[in-house]
Amino acid sequence: MNEIPELFGRSVFNDRVMRERLPHDIYRQLKETINEGTPLSREVANEVAEAMKNWAIENGATHYTHWFQPMTGVTAEKHESFISPAEGDSVIMEFSGKELTRGEPDASSFPSGGLRATFEARGYTAWDPTSNAFIKENTLCIPTVFLSYSGDVLDKKTPLLRSVEAINEQTLRVLRLLGDTEVKRVVPSVGAEQEYFLIDREAYRQRKDLILTGRTLLGRRPPKGQQLDDHYFGTIKPRVKEFMRDCDEEMWKYGVLAKTEHNETAPSQHELAPIYTNVNAATDQNQIMMEVMKKVALRHDLVCLLHEKPFNGINGSGKHNNWSLTTDKGENLFSPGKKPAENTRFLLFLCAVIKAVDEYQDLLRISVATAGNDHRLGANEAPPAIISVFLGDELTEILKSAEDGTLYEGKKNTKMGLGVHALPEIPKDNTDRNRTSPFAFTGNKFEFRSVGSSMSIAEANIVLDTIVSDALCDFADTLEKAADKDKAVHKLIADTIKKHKRIIFNGNGYTKEWEEEAARRGLCNYKTCADCMPHYLDKKNVELFTKFKIFTEREMVSRCEILTENYCKVLQIEAQTMVEMARKDILPASVAFSTLLCKDISLKTSTPETGSCAAEKRISVKLGKLIDDLDLKTEALARLSNETKRKSDHFAASREYRDKVIPAMEALRKTADDIEEIIGSDYYPYPDYCELLFGIDG
Ligand code: ADP
Ligand code: MG
Repeated sequence: MNEIPELFGRSVFNDRVMRERLPHDIYRQLKETINEGTPLSREVANEVAEAMKNWAIENGATHYTHWFQPMTGVTAEKHESFISPAEGDSVIMEFSGKELTRGEPDASSFPSGGLRATFEARGYTAWDPTSNAFIKENTLCIPTVFLSYSGDVLDKKTPLLRSVEAINEQTLRVLRLLGDTEVKRVVPSVGAEQEYFLIDREAYRQRKDLILTGRTLLGRRPPKGQQLDDHYFGTIKPRVKEFMRDCDEEMWKYGVLAKTEHNETAPSQHELAPIYTNVNAATDQNQIMMEVMKKVALRHDLVCLLHEKPFNGINGSGKHNNWSLTTDKGENLFSPGKKPAENTRFLLFLCAVIKAVDEYQDLLRISVATAGNDHRLGANEAPPAIISVFLGDELTEILKSAEDGTLYEGKKNTKMGLGVHALPEIPKDNTDRNRTSPFAFTGNKFEFRSVGSSMSIAEANIVLDTIVSDALCDFADTLEKAADKDKAVHKLIADTIKKHKRIIFNGNGYTKEWEEEAARRGLCNYKTCADCMPHYLDKKNVELFTKFKIFTEREMVSRCEILTENYCKVLQIEAQTMVEMARKDILPASVAFSTLLCKDISLKTSTPETGSCAAEKRISVKLGKLIDDLDLKTEALARLSNETKRKSDHFAASREYRDKVIPAMEALRKTADDIEEIIGSDYYPYPDYCELLFGIDG
């Protein structure tokens, strides 16, 4: 392997390269655009384009693409070569500032939720200079936003960038009111831990469900699952280790700070965590990470499954979105600090998050809503569908005394009062962790654990940044009016805790008791997309997004439609795949095994010495019933999914999928899995769970 520092960022047009290759004045102007959002002049764009092109060509690129993140949740690219015809039938390699800053993909097939009629199908892409361009294979990838001609947002990056601006503005307002005159910019920092499964490629190839839907639609649990917890943090198998090494190397080239790798709870499940960075880069990097993982796996004859629930009865995969606010002075606003003034600031920002999460539980739930993630949330694993905040006992006690206006008697022997004495250091200790919480404060950051493993982290962060902006905006409005700021801050903290403490929960989030308690507290419990999606357009949510100019109402309607439609489409594909598997594979296999039994019985019963064939007869009767059942349930599912498909109202369709199609799929699965239990292994048409989960040898 090359030296890592040399390798790191080798494929990225990063700050070091810009400084080396751009004239000083151009570099300075570009940095101004990046840091302060000043408009880019044509001259600067041209110079940057030329430098970028030369760098890219020297590093083997022949093409460029505007790399964007449409509502599909994955990235999109359309490659153009640098060549341009020149005199004498020759070509030159050209790339102008105009080509750098603006592109026009023929993008009529991307989801737009009715924002673009096909006759005006074109959208355009515009360069996002705040995220670095990079070379992938032979192509220079330029991170861009994607908009319709009328300026409607069609992607995930535009609203993310807007939410970053909103939170910067509102945080600065609050900081100024607390007396800070120095901080100029505040940006959310994000580290997204990525969970995934690795399985053998040959086994994958034999499973239509994995190929078409990313998860197993059928399959009986193996005798050994994750009961022994022997996989978590266990020794990494050599083949997996090689994959991880290759992945790291590739990601480092792209400047992705891949850092921690370990085995996860379930067999064949692993995790990769990068070092946190600003939310825009973190979002782009997570997309690159997912792409690299999938690609590198194939090189090792493995397949990387990013689906939230590839296996029934085995833990699913998520993406822990670690989030904090960092100032341009490098300070983390969620760091409890040691000085009283810092404590007050810390508590105020903590309260802003508590208020935000309580007021917009529904939006946070919606930001992670997909058909795949429904299998995790509300399914007694990973975080529950109910959004709550975990603070740990000590911090909860501190807030309680802030609310009561009493002295906090810390674990240590000094008595401390809010804003007067120093708070004890909030423990960053791993033992004070609650793995069941969807939204946990972990020492100096929040960990939003409900994000699905296959999802872009953009949506969750757009919501997080916007709802916290709203809380901070309220705080700033209140403080601006106060004569005695110190007193007002403390009152604000106490009032906020009083009003929003119902969202704080430190107990076990998987229990029935919590579900009941949460209902008493009036917290939302949206178990499926069909339940939560309609709330996206609730008045308070439309007011929120329009107030901070993240979305227009029209854009929200379109996004809601896209997400709901996507839910329906995923379930339609799953239902149809299941029907196909049952009809074409499971049924014929069961019939073949049944025929074998019947032949055997008839042969043996004609020769009385061979015994009564009692076992064969019993199995044959049982199997006969299951075959009948399989056929009935397959046809019922086919009928239901066809009926639902015809529904034009997406919300109504999503409810039908939830209430009729999913139960029909579960019923069919049960029968198919019962059949798997009876028929000989040689007759079962697919690699089973044992092979999939334990197929990679040591
Ligand atoms: P775990 O949660 O598995 O114990 P870590 O505590 O190491 O793991 O952190 C997980 C992720 O959180 C990493 O991606 C890390 O870079 C990120 N992280 C750490 N500090 C911050 C912070 N202040 N803001 C945002 N992300 C952070
Ligand atoms: Mg974590």
